[in-house]
Amino acid sequence: MKNALLIIIFVFSIFSCSTKNRKTEAKSAVKPKQFAIVLHGGAGNITPKSFTENKKRQYQKTLKTAIERGYSILENGGSAIDAVQKTINILEDSPLFNAGRGSVFDSEGKNRMDASIMDGETLNSGAVLGVTNVKNPINLARLVLDKSEYVMLSGKGAEIFGNQNKIIFKNDDYFFTKKNYDNLMQTQKQERNKKLGLIKDKKSLLKYGTVGVVALDKSGNLAAGTSTGGLTNKKYGRIGDSPIIGAGTYANNNSCAVSCTGIGEYYIKTVAAKEISSLIEYKGLSAKDALDEVLFNQIEVLGGKGGMIVLDKNANIE
Ligand code: ASP
Repeated sequence: MKNALLIIIFVFSIFSCSTKNRKTEAKSAVKPKQFAIVLHGGAGNITPKSFTENKKRQYQKTLKTAIERGYSILENGGSAIDAVQKTINILEDSPLFNAGRGSVFDSEGKNRMDASIMDGETLNSGAVLGVTNVKNPINLARLVLDKSEYVMLSGKGAEIFGNQNKIIFKNDDYFFTKKNYDNLMQTQKQERNKKLGLIKDKKSLLKYGTVGVVALDKSGNLAAGTSTGGLTNKKYGRIGDSPIIGAGTYANNNSCAVSCTGIGEYYIKTVAAKEISSLIEYKGLSAKDALDEVLFNQIEVLGGKGGMIVLDKNANIE
């Protein structure tokens, strides 16, 4: 994973082949059943210095638990899409990440969450936008994929659909974290001071972060998923790139699986995730070159910031 100007919190990846030794593989000419999983815990205007050692350990522990969950699903022959969903669940259940329980507050003090998931074999996708009180938005996105005739559901409608399908809802207290509340207060204060002309710097006031997972299973299927609370203090029903198939999330067995994090507007403008897939599929670029092209020559040129994870069909990780 590459980052632009910001610090990516943590990225973990695990890659594995079957346990046969190389000689046996060469003799039988049977392709090893390789599988891989990569996860990110978001980018933000956070630096390693702002983390205490203890905090860092907490993040690492949760990310490790999450990726081990996905890894064991893949190792046991499970599907990439299940691995993506279950790995994201662990991150959504933690208050540490800006997704599910740890989602940031919007300008009204609500947690409005976005998520999407995509199956690279069929291109089937599910996405939910601006949902509230949903414990695991990625599960609702998966439900949209599996059980609806649509790809994207938003707000109240998505919640009604979730209710009808036994999705778990939690009250507002579940989503409250002091860290996110303080960030909202600080951001709103800075915003007021800016309006009054008391602050002139152009530095972003926003704190963001997101979780995302890409996986390749033993059958050669890719999947990608992204879940987020979006941007602190977002207004007017703002939706970022995370639930937009092709912008923040994309998977296609012909090319790669991608999950993005950063200021979503830039990822939407550049249709970043699909752009990477197209560069790999149609131009024959490597995952690294495709990622560099999109992140540095397209997103950064527009002034965008963030990062992304890419896993190609041959299990190359960027
Ligand atoms: N991309 C997300 C959004 O714009 C935020 C993030 O990834 O940090 O909503």
